Amino acid sequence: MDAPAQLASGGTILIVDDMPANLEVVTNHLERQGYRAVVALSGDEGIERAEYVQPDLILLDVMMPGTDGFEICRRLKASDRTRAIPVIFMTALADTTDKLAGFAAGAVDYVTKPLNGAEVLARIESHLALYALRRQLAAQNAQLQQEIAVRSETQAALQRSNTEFEQLAYVASHDMQEPLRKIASYLQLLSQRYQGQLDADADEFIGYAVDGAKRMQALINDLLAYSRVGTKARPFAPTDCMLLVRTALADLQFAIEECGARVDIADLPMVMGDATQLSQVFRNLISNAIKFHRDEPPVVRVTAEPAGAFWRFTVSDNGIGIADEYFERIFVIFQRLHGRTRYAGTGIGLAICKKIVERHGGRIEVRSVVGEGSTFALTLPALQ
Ligand code: ADP
Repeated sequence: MDAPAQLASGGTILIVDDMPANLEVVTNHLERQGYRAVVALSGDEGIERAEYVQPDLILLDVMMPGTDGFEICRRLKASDRTRAIPVIFMTALADTTDKLAGFAAGAVDYVTKPLNGAEVLARIESHLALYALRRQLAAQNAQLQQEIAVRSETQAALQRSNTEFEQLAYVASHDMQEPLRKIASYLQLLSQRYQGQLDADADEFIGYAVDGAKRMQALINDLLAYSRVGTKARPFAPTDCMLLVRTALADLQFAIEECGARVDIADLPMVMGDATQLSQVFRNLISNAIKFHRDEPPVVRVTAEPAGAFWRFTVSDNGIGIADEYFERIFVIFQRLHGRTRYAGTGIGLAICKKIVERHGGRIEVRSVVGEGSTFALTLPALQ
């Protein structure tokens, strides 16, 4: 609290009063305390001085010939140049309506005549401190607003470049599909028709080429799927997560049976979202939870709990787990921790999950212990 006290001392006080005799007591008192007192003998002069001197505070007499103090105060408060300067009324009247009129005109306080120097000073100091605080707040607020403006501009630019990237990825991957399909099918034709007719090396080379073309097709399809999260987004609607997870399980029935997986589903809520995209999220997470299992059969659990305006879902497994240093990296497009021969996949699933969850205003993260299992947690917006 040192700063406001410091700001409050040594300020300039404008005193507006038509009776010079009244002023002397106050000005002397203020000047003794290190303030600079500027005097105006009429309301109009007061306004002029306030605009010119820009005092830290104005002491304003209520009863003045011509324009009274209330009107002067209203004018001060109507002008951009003087609006912020605190005004304290000086009134001889103990009348409550008078004081109320002063507050209504925009004053912050009043003092009654005959003036008591110590009281006037105490009030001045407390209002100067308040004023300084208010100015400090206003400056911080303005700075914050500016930061917000800069940030939202950056965000808008980021959004634009994201959209452009998505469109580019979409067009590129879409247009690449056709020539690639041609390469893959002619290579396959070559291998079928000329298998064993050329030498062993040729068979091997054609095999590599077919494999490469197939992988390229898979990557391009993934890139297309990734770019569709933005380009083919649908508006949010109430979505039953229980239904989404059950559908995902039906899609994964073969994998579940093959490795004898058990999938427990807790009560799952409705959320606001894009059902097609959210079903993709649950399918990817459950599919991974089954795929990355250890020797024992996978046990997968899906839960949900309220978290403010969101629901927090978890998909946990008892699989191979993930080392801490990969917690972030696995959500990046095409990032995988294992060779293709060990676990099939291209490394797009979690990148798509992240993109979808973030489009819904949520977050996704993983916690895991190698050799024990992983828990993916994501937040999705609750129904309003
Ligand atoms: P993909 O499954 O095609 O490899 P993802 O983007 O779905 O791609 O996953 C990226 C990588 O994260 C996986 O290759 C795997 O190494 C790791 N991962 C994902 N889910 C799990 C899980 N439940 N348990 C262990 N590792 C996982």
